[in-house]
Amino acid sequence: MTVLALDIGGTKFAVARIDATGTLLDRAEHPVGQSPTATLRGLVADFAAPGLTAVGIASAGPIDTVAGTVSPINIPRWRGYPLVSAVQRLVPGVPVSLAGDAQCMALGEWWRGGHGGSSLLGIVVSTGVGGGLIIDGRPWTGRTGNAGHIGHVILDLDGEPCVCGARGCLETIAGGPSMVRWALAQGWTLATGRPDAKALAAAAREGAAIPLAAFHRAADALATAIVNTASVLDIQNVVLGGGVAATGDLLLAPLRTAITARAGMPYLRDLRVSPTTLSRDAGLFGAAALALHATGNPLTPAANTDNSGTRADR
Ligand SMILES: [Zn+2]
Repeated sequence: MTVLALDIGGTKFAVARIDATGTLLDRAEHPVGQSPTATLRGLVADFAAPGLTAVGIASAGPIDTVAGTVSPINIPRWRGYPLVSAVQRLVPGVPVSLAGDAQCMALGEWWRGGHGGSSLLGIVVSTGVGGGLIIDGRPWTGRTGNAGHIGHVILDLDGEPCVCGARGCLETIAGGPSMVRWALAQGWTLATGRPDAKALAAAAREGAAIPLAAFHRAADALATAIVNTASVLDIQNVVLGGGVAATGDLLLAPLRTAITARAGMPYLRDLRVSPTTLSRDAGLFGAAALALHATGNPLTPAANTDNSGTRADR
């Protein structure tokens, strides 16, 4: 049994054929280009071989899983674009499932990432902060398809306004541009170049005090949101992906320390925070898992390799 997986990102589209055991058979990707619809059509045409049983799509948001539409922020030509019905026309006769990219990242990491356990919280820390949940071996997408949106957990009652309309969300502290804004407000200056998240990480790595403080502040906010989520859901595994998370120990080390400091209840003291093990393919594996789950196939996660899971309290 083989499914088609699509990963609709803001700058590129990726496609793969993946079988029910989680083996990636073939894969391709293409920049979005001038016509996202033509790019989609070309990629799917190359992979839509006979014998496919389902299609799963991971897409950058916002998305509407009820309407089957997507409006990726970085693809202005797609606003309320009917992605599900477009793919249904390209691959007729098989079910098509859609979920957010962060949800698919979480699902892919749980299925093929080797993190172990029946539940997992995946978090993507980049320009924004997204997330997805696997609860008791099932993707948990919620009533409107938005479950796991940890970036909009409120941490500061009088905090900065967030793009979502609320105040003090995790994203206003731990999103890349928010970290940069905070550092600049504290007096961080750059001799040359643009003060962005990459420059902030480089400065922190060189030991600059304000950039380091920005990472510690973001780590503490993330830790608080993770402990809050785990206290409600009683989960153990957390996997981090995204550009800011790719800074490695710059974020992970203070994050683990902060989780240990903030976790009170005994069941929160062995939270495991790991970096992504599938990296750029997490979304494709998650989209494939989504398609398999939607067509009634049980998902068997890869064995726990324990290659990256470091307990927060170690
Ligand atoms: Zn928000």
